[in-house]
Amino acid sequence: MHCPFCRNNDTKVLDSRVAEDGCSIRRRRCCQACEQRFTTLELMQLTVVKRSGATEAFDRDKAIAGVRKACKGRPLTEDDLARLGHVVEDSLRGSGQAEFASHEVGMAILEPLRELDEVAYLRFAAVYKQFETAEDFEIEIASLREHRAAQLAEILDQSRSEGLTSAPSG
Ligand SMILES: [Zn+2]
Repeated sequence: MHCPFCRNNDTKVLDSRVAEDGCSIRRRRCCQACEQRFTTLELMQLTVVKRSGATEAFDRDKAIAGVRKACKGRPLTEDDLARLGHVVEDSLRGSGQAEFASHEVGMAILEPLRELDEVAYLRFAAVYKQFETAEDFEIEIASLREHRAAQLAEILDQSRSEGLTSAPSG
């Protein structure tokens, strides 16, 4: 980051804060050469820490590569996957964190994937939640059902309050 006044490369950060959009950092800097002060807006770089401890920049396509495998044979389009990648990146950025373990990226994929395709979700969850037995699948399917029932109840509540369904007579 060089000084906009004298092009000197040696600047000191006086203050850093996350910008309102949650995706960038506003930094107040002071040039060490001419002592002018200026503000920079830097896009937060999302970093993924792999199991080996190595880090790499978050890559949307890479993040959903595992999902692509789980979606084999499912009626999902490249557009669906691209949208999923976008949702995942947004939710990671929205957390305000800049560094994520690879399993955290996987977890961020699970919820939007569940809304997209339940079979792909189960296959993906099996990897990320490290299912070991058929029972693990049963537990996950039970929670899928609960989630679906809760969604259904919500829809019913809404339509009831909007007067779309008649109250039971009795
Ligand atoms: Zn300067």
